[in-house]
Parts: sequence; structure tokens; C-alpha cells
Amino acid sequence: MIQVNGLTRRYGDIAAVSDLSFSVAEGEIIGFLGPNGAGKTTTMNMITGCLRATAGTVTVDGADIETDADRARKIIGYLPENPPLYPDMTVDEYLEFVYRLKKCRLPQKEHLDSVYDMAGLSDVRGRLIRNLSKGYRQRVGLAQALIGDPKVLILDEPTVGLDPRQIIEIREVIRSLGQKHTVILSSHILPEVQEVCDRILVIDHGRIVADGTPAELSERVEGAEQLNMTI
Ligand code: ATP
Repeated sequence: MIQVNGLTRRYGDIAAVSDLSFSVAEGEIIGFLGPNGAGKTTTMNMITGCLRATAGTVTVDGADIETDADRARKIIGYLPENPPLYPDMTVDEYLEFVYRLKKCRLPQKEHLDSVYDMAGLSDVRGRLIRNLSKGYRQRVGLAQALIGDPKVLILDEPTVGLDPRQIIEIREVIRSLGQKHTVILSSHILPEVQEVCDRILVIDHGRIVADGTPAELSERVEGAEQLNMTI
């Protein structure tokens, strides 16, 4: 479903991401694990087409993110690290706005009802976003990513800043989304990706340093500790 080849992003002399190559099969939930500054956000931004790569290619369901951007972007739902939410809108108003922004052609009421359901938002539709807890705001972020019925979800550190209960709830939502979507979940928390993901890619200093199932990775926890990750 996702094919990344030689993906590189340089800022002057500094390589934020160097020559990344990996693929993600349809239906897989991939954990993208790495410490602060490892290159996770830079990679996510290139996969979603928000940032131009210095070199390399990304294809999503066969569509190249640069040369076939419109098609590729329709396949991807992106939850960035700090999603742009409008605090003075109600949840309903905001998601209808995103629906129009994405020029979504699915039947509006049925589609938004299913998005509310998937994101666990049905009971707060009329609430102002500013009055929601951080956990619910993150659900709104997930909901905007789900509009347009994307096959792929790219989620950049979706549990950062949440309290332990909210973290458990958001992980639950992600796990259930993973039943119908291909997911890349970035995180710096090893147990989080072990709990939620089928496979984990470990990135450090812009390079992939390990790739394996959660079971294979736990055998290498010593290596993860060396990367200063939360264990
Ligand atoms: P975090 O967990 O803190 O969000 P990350 O793994 O997402 O970190 P990135 O934000 O991708 O890491 O950053 C990777 C490297 O690229 C860092 O060294 C960062 O300072 C550098 N970097 C990112 N964006 C820029 C930029 N616009 N200009 C210069 N350097 C940048």
C-alpha cells in the first residue's frame, strides 16, 4: 500500500532524513518509533506530500505523492502532531468545514455519522472545541483525518500531551481504526507501538536502525534504551 524508496530530506548540510526505504502492506499497522529529533515528523510530512523530499519517492496505492499528488492525497488521512483545530467552532461545524474543504463527495450525513462513530465523538457533536478535553480534541483530529474515507492513516504522535486515561482511550480508537485501515503511527514510546502495531520501524538520526515485529523488538530493548526512548 505504501512504498518509500530512498527518501531523503536535507536542511543545508544537515540530513533530517537519509535514504529511508520501506514498504507497508495493506491493512498493516506500522509503528514509527524514535526519540525526539529522529526524523519522524519530517518523514510523515514527506509521505503525506506536505513537505518535498530532497531525494527519493513515495507511492501510495500506486500513486506517486509528487507526480500524482491529487490521487495519492485522497488515499491518505493525516493527523499531524498539532492538528489545526478551530476552538470557537463546534465539533459539527468543524467537521462539516473539513468535509467541504476536502471536497468530499460521499453522502454527507451518512459519512459524517460514520466518522463520529469511528472516532468515538457522537456524544460531543454540539460542543465547542475549546471546551473539550485534550483527549476529545485528539479524537476530533482523528475524525478530520477520516473524512473522505482514506485507506491509509498517518498519525504523528497522537498521544503526546494526553493523560494516562486519555492515552488508553486513544490507543483503543487507533486499534479499532487499524481493522479497516493501513496505519503508520509515530511515537517515542516503545510500549505504545508494541501494544498497537503489527510491525515497528525504529528511526534514529534520520535512518532506520531496526525493523521487526513487537516480539522481535522486545528482544532488542537494550538497543531501544540506548536511544533514550520511554520504556
Ligand atoms: P519530535 O519527536 O521531537 O517531533 P521527530 O522525530 O519528529 O522529533 P523531526 O521533527 O522530523 O524529528 O526532526 C528531525 C531533524 O530535522 C531534527 O534534527 C530537526 O531539528 C531537523 N529539522 C526539522 N525541520 C527542520 C527545519 N525546517 N529546518 C532545519 N532543521 C529541521
